[in-house]
Amino acid sequence: MANTVIIPDSLLPRDGRFGSGPSKIRTAQMQALNAAGTTLMGTSHRQPAIKTLVASIQRGLEDFFSLPAGYEVTLGNGGASAFWDIVSCCLIRRRAACGTYGSFSSSFATAMARAPFIEDPVCYDSRPGTYRLPEYDSRVDAYCWAHNETSTGVCAPVQRVEGSQAQHALTIIDATSGAGALPVDITQTDAYYFSPQKAFGSDGGLWLAMLSPAAIERAQILQAEADRRSSPRWIPRFLSLTAAIDNSRKHQTLNTPAIATLIMLENQVRWLNDQGGLPWTTHRCAQSASILYAWAEHCNYATPFVKDPRARSNAVVTIDLDSALDANEVVATLRGNGIIDTFGYRKLGRNQLRVGVFPSVDPQDVEALTNCIDYVVKHS
Ligand SMILES: *Cc1c(COP(=O)(O)O)cnc(C)c1O
Repeated sequence: MANTVIIPDSLLPRDGRFGSGPSKIRTAQMQALNAAGTTLMGTSHRQPAIKTLVASIQRGLEDFFSLPAGYEVTLGNGGASAFWDIVSCCLIRRRAACGTYGSFSSSFATAMARAPFIEDPVCYDSRPGTYRLPEYDSRVDAYCWAHNETSTGVCAPVQRVEGSQAQHALTIIDATSGAGALPVDITQTDAYYFSPQKAFGSDGGLWLAMLSPAAIERAQILQAEADRRSSPRWIPRFLSLTAAIDNSRKHQTLNTPAIATLIMLENQVRWLNDQGGLPWTTHRCAQSASILYAWAEHCNYATPFVKDPRARSNAVVTIDLDSALDANEVVATLRGNGIIDTFGYRKLGRNQLRVGVFPSVDPQDVEALTNCIDYVVKHS
C-alpha cells in the first residue's frame, strides 16, 4: 500500500544514495575509472603505473590527515574486518582495553577475545545510542574503540587515555566510517584504520591504516618474536602488519589489490583535498547531519536516536520513527522512488532510519530527503 506513493520529481534529491557503506560514489570517480579502462585496469600492480597510483593515495592521505612526522600510510587487502585480526596478531602484546557500544566496536573486541595467544580484552560497555571509552588499566598495552559506531550513529572522541603513553600502550581506532567525515588529530592515535567504501566513496576489500612509529615498532617486535618462535603467537602471512608495512613502503600490497578500488579512492582523496581537505569535509558532513537532526527535532513523528547531541554522528545519522509508522515501509517507499539504503542497522532492531551523510553526499540532497520523508509519511 505504502509502496504506491509516488514522490513528485520536484522533491527528489539529485542523487538518491544515502547508504552507510558502501556509500555514494561520485560520477567523476566512475569517469576516472572509465578513463583508466585501457591504461590502468587490467595491468600489473607491480608496475610503475599502479605504484604511482598507490603513492598518490598515500601522499594524498598524508596531506588530508596532516600526518605527523614518522607516521606512515599503510594498506592491504581484506578491509577493516581483516584489520581487526591484524590488531590481534600484530599490535596487542598481552591485552587490550576496548570501548564496546554497538555492533562494530563489539566485533573489534570479539576478534581479540578469540585470539588464543592474547588475553581477553577488558571491555567498557555501554548501551546502543551512547558510547564509553576504555579507561586506564595498568594490565593493558592497547586501548581500542571506534571513532564512529556505524550501527547506532554514535561518534566518540579520539583522545589518548591519560597515562597510556607512559605505560607505552597503543591507541588503536576503528575509523572505518568516521575517517574523512569526522575531525581527528592523528597525534592522538597509533593506528587509525578504515575501509574506503564509506566516507572515501570507493569500493570495499581494502584497509588503510595511519600508523605511528610506536605502532610500527610494536609490529616489528612482535613479528620478530613470532619468527623466533619465542612466543605462541601465530601471524599468518596475510595478516602480517610488517609485511603490509614493507609492501606499502614500495607502494604495493602483499597480494593483488582490486585496481578499480584504488582508482576510485585516488580520485576521491584528490577531490577531498582540492575542496579544502579535512576542514572542508567535516564542515560539509556537519551541515548535512544538522539538517537531519534539526528536522527530526522539529518533526512530530521523528526523533534523533542519540540523545546526547555531542555523541551524535556527523557521518551516519540515526532517526527513530513514531511507533504508529513502520520504518520498513517508509524505507521501501523511498526505495521505490529511487532513494536508496535508508534502513536502520538490522541487528539493532529499532523502528529507525539511518542515513550516511559522507562528504560525497550533497547537503541539498539531504534537505530534499527530509522533504521526501515528510511527503511519504503524509501520503501513506
Ligand atoms: C563498515 C565497518 C566495518 C567493516 O568494514 P569492512 O570493510 O566490511 O570489513 C568495521 N568497522 C566499522 C566502524 C564500520 O563502519
